[in-house]
Amino acid sequence: MAIEKTDVVIVGVGAAGAVLAAELSKAGMKVIGLERGPRLTTADFRPHDELRFFQRQDLRPNVKRQPVTWRPNAKARAVPLRNLSYGNGAGGGTIHYGAVSWRFHADDFRARSATIERYGAAAIPEDSSLADWPLSHAELEPFYERAEYEIGVSGKAGNLDGRKVEGGNVFEAPRKRDYPLPPLQTDQSGVLFDEAARKLGLHPFSAPHAIISQDYRGRTGCTYCGFCQAFGCHVGAKSSTLVSVLPQADASGNFRLITGAMCYRVNSDGARATGISYYGLDNSDNTIEAEIVILSPFIYDNTRLLLLSRTDKFPNGLANSSGQLGKHIMAHIGAKVYAAFDSRYVNNYMGPNAQKHALDDFNADNYDHGGLGFIRGSQVAVATANTEGGPIGTAMGMEPPHGTPRWGAAYRDFMARYFARHAVVISETENLPYADHTIDLDPDVRDAWGLPAPRITYDWRRPNEIKGVAFIQDKLEGVARAMGATHVWRAPLSGGGPGPHTQGGTRMGSDPKTSVVNRYSQSWDIPNLFIVGSSTHPSMSGFNPTLTIQAVAYWTADAIVNKYKKSPGPLV
Ligand SMILES: Cc1cc2nc3c(=O)[nH]c(=O)nc-3n(C[C@H](O)[C@H](O)[C@H](O)COP(=O)(O)OP(=O)(O)OC[C@H]3O[C@@H](n4cnc5c(N)ncnc54)[C@H](O)[C@@H]3O)c2cc1C
Ligand code: SF4
Repeated sequence: MAIEKTDVVIVGVGAAGAVLAAELSKAGMKVIGLERGPRLTTADFRPHDELRFFQRQDLRPNVKRQPVTWRPNAKARAVPLRNLSYGNGAGGGTIHYGAVSWRFHADDFRARSATIERYGAAAIPEDSSLADWPLSHAELEPFYERAEYEIGVSGKAGNLDGRKVEGGNVFEAPRKRDYPLPPLQTDQSGVLFDEAARKLGLHPFSAPHAIISQDYRGRTGCTYCGFCQAFGCHVGAKSSTLVSVLPQADASGNFRLITGAMCYRVNSDGARATGISYYGLDNSDNTIEAEIVILSPFIYDNTRLLLLSRTDKFPNGLANSSGQLGKHIMAHIGAKVYAAFDSRYVNNYMGPNAQKHALDDFNADNYDHGGLGFIRGSQVAVATANTEGGPIGTAMGMEPPHGTPRWGAAYRDFMARYFARHAVVISETENLPYADHTIDLDPDVRDAWGLPAPRITYDWRRPNEIKGVAFIQDKLEGVARAMGATHVWRAPLSGGGPGPHTQGGTRMGSDPKTSVVNRYSQSWDIPNLFIVGSSTHPSMSGFNPTLTIQAVAYWTADAIVNKYKKSPGPLV
């Protein structure tokens, strides 16, 4: 067994891990990043092969080698998920993500208190474990700004220090500075969406993206090639951590990345984490010993690694004296309404594919929920039918309207007519946390290394969520009709399984009895162990999570450099 020593070891070098690698190595700490996948380069993303990157999901974990299983409830048998929404290589999910980069709202950080203040405690479902974050939007604001400038985010501010700005998101919390780059170009679906939303008295805007709209810090601006979500960017315009912050870590001279490193255990001596054990590409068994251990391999392995690292002192998983490990899993619930036009082209396959233009009127607590029977909300946006806009992605993701078959000449004619003449109005409804939505170790399914697969027990179809999704579907349909579409129809809802942006499992809190980490992502039980990523989110917001994951990574790095390093021990 090979053993090496370092100051900091980081498991998983994706959206969060790469930020920590850059910040800590720049601060003079010796950092080793352990990443199970390869380190690709911009040249590896050419050509944009839709079969390879979209259909076969080449940049994501291989579902046979790295299975994650799902069952709707504890009585059902779990089955492997067919699609995994996170990364598998240096840069993680940011290589192939849609790059929509939101700051959460101020009330997203205090959803429990804000709900009680406005509607009373009875508005929160009795079985929900909805909790406030132990940090506020105002505390995180400088770190959101840091993330936007370091990574490169394009957009338009809607609230500069309390001054509402027309054309930006007027519902956003106050920010000190505008985005570093202007919004991306508006395509025809954005034009139609904006006109429709304004007609309805709503407030549309260009969704912020971690895609550079102009040349920025030596990188080339977006060429609007259209093969974006599910693909790596062939010119490096998508601000993946591979092209934005990992080069900063490299330049520090203090960072070393080990690829093909499948981490399987956090080693500990009772009071401290002593390091990480991993299998190398040649199946070698290796250990890195470190003063600080950081876990950032996304939510499945944040929980799985801690469960696999149980000790006599922590028989239910390392750092799990609270018993909260693996609980409170959340995911977005997507609904879609199609708008197809007989009289015009929309060409929405062009440009970045994820949320193009959006509106925030029905998100968070931006509207009165009195009498609606549910709390929290959803972003609404215009997008493509699937996670990308090419012909295969559209064919796989676009359900034809009732009465049109999914095969044969009628289906061919439908696709030929509407591929370039449709837009999709989508939502991502916030799902409340529930303690019985969990990740644990699957007793039956193992991965390519013989480790038990992470198993999710989850079903979004709870009364609050069912009502929230039904409400937003009506809003989506209203916008689609106001766009002037000839045909408008709803896509069927998913059957209960976890949608994208899965969060929870190592929740952050202000009480060690009810949370796994404190406000600095530091384990309550083991002070030199930090757990970073959306697994720490106590609630989830109706916005995509990655900019918040990265802002919290900057906040955590700052706490390690300016607090922990000076006085190692509990930060709270
Ligand atoms: C198609 C798609 C589109 C998306 N679009 C958006 C979007 O538009 N906006 C948004 O905000 N979010 C989006 N997301 C979600 C986004 O990708 C994730 O939120 C984000 O990448 C999570 O960051 P992370 O650092 O926690 O994990 P990742 O970025 O996934 O990084 C984790 C890394 O850890 C590695 N790893 C895992 N286990 C181990 C192990 N045991 N040992 C060693 N290494 C390990 C993985 O290989 C991976 O590289 C999208 C996701 C998908 C799949
Ligand atoms: S749409 Fe822009 S950011 Fe996306 S892959 Fe193409 S050039 Fe890159």
